Amino acid sequence: MKRILVTGGAGFVGSHLCERLIEAGHEVLCVDNYYTGSRRNVAHLLPNPNFELMRHDVTFPLFAEVDEIYNLACPASPIHYQFDPVQTTKTSVHGAINMLGLAKRRKAKIFQASTSEVYGDPTIHPQVEEYWGNVNPIGIRSCYDEGKRCAETLFFDYHRQHKLQIKVARIFNTYGPRMHPNDGRVVSNFIMQALRGEPITLYGEGLQTRSFCYVDDLVEGFIRLMATGDEVTGPINLGNPGEFTIKALAEMVVAQTGSASKITYQPLPSDDPKQRQPDISKARALLDDWQPTIALEQGLARTIVYFDGLLKSGLA
Ligand code: NAD
Ligand code: UDP
Repeated sequence: MKRILVTGGAGFVGSHLCERLIEAGHEVLCVDNYYTGSRRNVAHLLPNPNFELMRHDVTFPLFAEVDEIYNLACPASPIHYQFDPVQTTKTSVHGAINMLGLAKRRKAKIFQASTSEVYGDPTIHPQVEEYWGNVNPIGIRSCYDEGKRCAETLFFDYHRQHKLQIKVARIFNTYGPRMHPNDGRVVSNFIMQALRGEPITLYGEGLQTRSFCYVDDLVEGFIRLMATGDEVTGPINLGNPGEFTIKALAEMVVAQTGSASKITYQPLPSDDPKQRQPDISKARALLDDWQPTIALEQGLARTIVYFDGLLKSGLA
């Protein structure tokens, strides 16, 4: 049994991770400032004596006696990370410095939730970890992209300079239950619009692509990456290589919900990446043949049930 800190643990991915770690018998300290997450996401874990929830902003130092750290704190949806871009960069950069400092003092293993956004609008396809990316440093997505890139730099410098055990995962678009219904990300937007019978908002012509990973597959990848020996630092792509146009996703959601919603076309936000697909060869080789097992159709069905439940209970 380990004492494990999860920052951003009350968010979408973090809440699933806390659940998995508790199920495995660990003690979990979940730290969150509820910027995009909520206590409701982890309410079911609160009665467990191994679970502790703490309101804390990672841009401030934290002192806690832990053996491992998963650093997930950071808004992930474009509308949320662009709402207060200065705070987004602070969360990524100051948050990383504070958590790395804690890991150094505790000699704890530390995991970073990095992102496919470090590749920007990629010019090679699918994206391999060796690719340095095509990122606009001054655009509206930069607070997130460059913040996450700087966090990766800090992780590797702490590793080289202080011999810290680091695990850096580059996460590709992930979806599932407990995404925020007003999160603005494409899967939650389309499902909520379809269930409410509202127009489906397709940005641009909808020909841009993304590869969607179900949250359980992602969390399995996190656990396997954290369990690797010192020689594995990452960065490692974690995502589902199944690639879809956003228009195809809209059509799938409409079909699976049986909705009468029609597609409406809206302007494409600036710097919106045209294509994105992970090359997961490295993850397969280093993480005991890890690969996603849940197909988009199956994962969407589970996510639709979740959002439908939220709507029916008035919680959306
Ligand atoms: P989310 O917004 O649901 O979760 C982020 C959590 O971090 C929220 O609970 C939020 O309240 C918390 N948080 C934000 N700023 C904080 C701060 N300063 N101090 C403490 N807590 C703070 O998003 P998510 O999808 O669960 O993403 C989790 C992590 O994974 C993020 O770091 C994100 O960048 C990364 N990621 C996610 C995806 C994805 O598709 N879901 C893709 C790439 C990377
Ligand atoms: N998108 C869309 N309609 C929406 C929300 C998003 O067409 O209501 C598009 C968006 O322009 C992008 C893709 O879906 O091309 C994925 O967007 P999301 O915000 O989920 O993630 P990211 O762009 O960070 O991959």
